[in-house]
Amino acid sequence: MLKIHVDMEKCQHYGQCVFDAPNVFRLNEDDKLEYEATADDSEQDNVQLAVDICPMQAISFTKAD
Ligand code: SF4
Repeated sequence: MLKIHVDMEKCQHYGQCVFDAPNVFRLNEDDKLEYEATADDSEQDNVQLAVDICPMQAISFTKAD
């Protein structure tokens, strides 16, 4: 399982992460980022892409059992 954290002080809601990991990140109707705090290991590659693409370096994750 992945534990995902977004630093909402840094996040500028650009939404790049949404394109890379749409099962984890989404923009709500107010164009604010929402995300799943946990995700299946199968999402790791997508979440890593989101980490790499985020212009604010706001996303981090850890692997947990
Ligand atoms: S890519 Fe980064 S700054 Fe953009 S919405 Fe996602 S977490 Fe926020």
